[in-house]
Amino acid sequence: MSERFFSETPITGPRAELRGAEAHHLTRVMRAAVGAEVTLFDGSGQEFAGRVARIDREGVTLDIVAARAVNRELAGPLHLGVALPKGDRQRWLVEKATELGATRLVPLICERSVAQPTPSARARLERFVIEATKQCGRNRLMEVAAPSTLEDYLATAPAAARRLFAHVPDDPSGSAAQTTSLAAALSQAGHAPNYETFVAIGPEGGFTPTEVAAAHKNGWQLVSLGPRTLRVESAALALVAAIALRKRSDEED
Ligand code: SAH
Repeated sequence: MSERFFSETPITGPRAELRGAEAHHLTRVMRAAVGAEVTLFDGSGQEFAGRVARIDREGVTLDIVAARAVNRELAGPLHLGVALPKGDRQRWLVEKATELGATRLVPLICERSVAQPTPSARARLERFVIEATKQCGRNRLMEVAAPSTLEDYLATAPAAARRLFAHVPDDPSGSAAQTTSLAAALSQAGHAPNYETFVAIGPEGGFTPTEVAAAHKNGWQLVSLGPRTLRVESAALALVAAIALRKRSDEED
């Protein structure tokens, strides 16, 4: 795969423009000159072959040589609701979730949440998504949704979707009896690989008993990832990987 660049403006005509970080990456980091051939994507699902036509102070202009739809998405949408960890662990989570194909990341506001993403923090997460998307070859961006209260997230996921609520099994706050192992939950009959799936992962302090009860009441399945307590980002990635790797991608049809 040749080096890939993201155009924030949808590419519709015979030319594309790169500005800011992308132009900098192309001209300063890759040291591309006029005539260089690169791959472009704009998040629409298409991939474009481009040739550098002009480099100036404003950015880079490219001729679009070819366009084709290349689908590297999961067979069904995967919504990752997670109480975000802090700092670098947040970046790691966003990067890996993008690579594994998550469709949408929803920062959850829980009773014990610590990091509440501000608009500027969200923009930073979107930049991590773009970097990971360039690297892994997706032609759609994982959406970074506005933060949502856990309550809203639990209530708005459609009942017809698979809804998995990650719950530490020996959590003294209760309901261990209703917790299924993730493997058992995923192999249940009637769950086709292209099912729309919602997952919820709590903050470092865990979900409160009220939150666990609310999930159960809303019809979410409480799932365990084993007897060890995982960090937020490990739990999120374990879930995303297990679900994503079971979903057929269109290429494997
Ligand atoms: N201090 C908390 C642990 C929080 S871990 C406690 O003792 O309960 C952060 C989140 O990761 C949890 O809310 C849960 O959603 C998820 N998680 C971590 N380990 C898990 C496991 N073994 N099974 C299921 N979910 C887990």
